[in-house]
Amino acid sequence: MLKKLFQSLRTPKRRTQQLRSTPEVLNSSQHSLQRAQFSRYAVNIVERLQNAGYQAYLVGGCVRDMLLNITPKDFDVATSATPEQVRAEFRNARIIGRRFKLVHIHFGREIIEVATFRANHPQNDEEEDSNQSSRNESGRILRDNVYGTLEEDAQRRDFTINALYYDPVSERILDYANGVHDIRNHLIRLIGDPQQRYQEDPVRMLRAVRFAAKLDFGIEKHTAAPIRALAPMLREIPSARLFEEVLKLFLSGNAADTFEMLVDLQLLDQLFPASAEALEHNPTYTHTLISEALRNTDLRIKQGKPVTPAFLFAALLWPALPARVMHLQDRGMPAIPAMQEAAHDLIAEQCTRIAIPKRFTLPIREIWDMQERLPRRSGKRADMLLDNPRFRAGYDFLLLRESAGEQTHGLGEWWTDYQDANDSGRREMIRELSTAKEDGAGPAPRKRRRTGSSKRKRSAGADE
Ligand code: ATP
Ligand code: MG
Repeated sequence: MLKKLFQSLRTPKRRTQQLRSTPEVLNSSQHSLQRAQFSRYAVNIVERLQNAGYQAYLVGGCVRDMLLNITPKDFDVATSATPEQVRAEFRNARIIGRRFKLVHIHFGREIIEVATFRANHPQNDEEEDSNQSSRNESGRILRDNVYGTLEEDAQRRDFTINALYYDPVSERILDYANGVHDIRNHLIRLIGDPQQRYQEDPVRMLRAVRFAAKLDFGIEKHTAAPIRALAPMLREIPSARLFEEVLKLFLSGNAADTFEMLVDLQLLDQLFPASAEALEHNPTYTHTLISEALRNTDLRIKQGKPVTPAFLFAALLWPALPARVMHLQDRGMPAIPAMQEAAHDLIAEQCTRIAIPKRFTLPIREIWDMQERLPRRSGKRADMLLDNPRFRAGYDFLLLRESAGEQTHGLGEWWTDYQDANDSGRREMIRELSTAKEDGAGPAPRKRRRTGSSKRKRSAGADE
């Protein structure tokens, strides 16, 4: 009994990941990184800054991803040099940002971002009483433009796995927060007290989900625990920043897993309140439609095909539309205006949370409008629709609805065949439509044309 107590005193349960005052140093024989794997431009920058007498390291996502054998998106450098000092060393350097300055060093198309070590504002800083305070009343950091030491820079980073510093000259890793341990154990863990860190910046809740999905890591339990309760804090975040974050969440190639996590952690309610409501009222249809769309998006990204955010947003919001259309129709509005008004209102409402730019909201409406028009095929209408630049997205969206179990009386298959048919085949298909109408029955049974149609049918996803 005593022995057990003693052991638990010696190895207290780590509720929060506190920083070491001196980092654990891993030399080149203790880790798998090699200088040659990193962008030579980034390595040169580090070398030149060090030769000029500054501290400089590769940091963040590139070190984390390299340890996991993932190709990094970009390479970031952290240094003790101020932006002006960095600029003085490099002819191709530009200072960006006004309040918080960063330096971009350009090498052709590659840009290396160099950031000066930053410090977190203390929780009860002296400015607190004045209107210069760096935090608001809920603890959110409003300004973080204070330079700091290397150790402070590690402390203000979000997750342990993002706070690793690699020195390509000595080939050593500096690990202040047991990040290497968490990489080995596939864990997303916040540095410091999770509640406080989310209060400082609620977007970290979304980042936890993004990295968990991207890396296929678990979210450590103390890091996950406060999320449901603190999720409403996302309402304080400017809608433009949330738009950027949501794009990163859904265009990472792991959108389907991301969605499950967002639902589970009640973050979806904050990002897409109408979709979360639809998920509650009509769970099977909503879930199938959205996950199918996201799986297609993930697949397209893996295949290197383009993906348009409009298709994604159209799918995420679509399940929220019918209830609104019905509500307007119940009040006597005809079907098409009801659909248009509901679409307009839903998008406007969504934009108060996430600022979806006009260049995407317009195509969302067009994809939805197309759903009203695809059943109307008589006369020249079908050919006109086929020529519509939004046809492909609208058709893919129709297949998506069908794959979620929506009953369309074979409309998707009809359009698949129509695209494959030659001129006389198309005329026959249109004739069959009017006969079916005169009979008062559904479309007359047709011989299926097999050529190439199934291939196209499976490509439901974002348009090209
Ligand atoms: P990605 O591969 O998605 O670019 P990343 O880790 O490089 O991943 P960035 O958003 O580019 O992510 O941020 C770079 C680094 O800055 C992170 O690794 C992290 O150390 C730090 N960081 C970014 N956003 C925050 C935040 N909200 N709070 C604390 N630290 C952050
Ligand atoms: Mg990055």
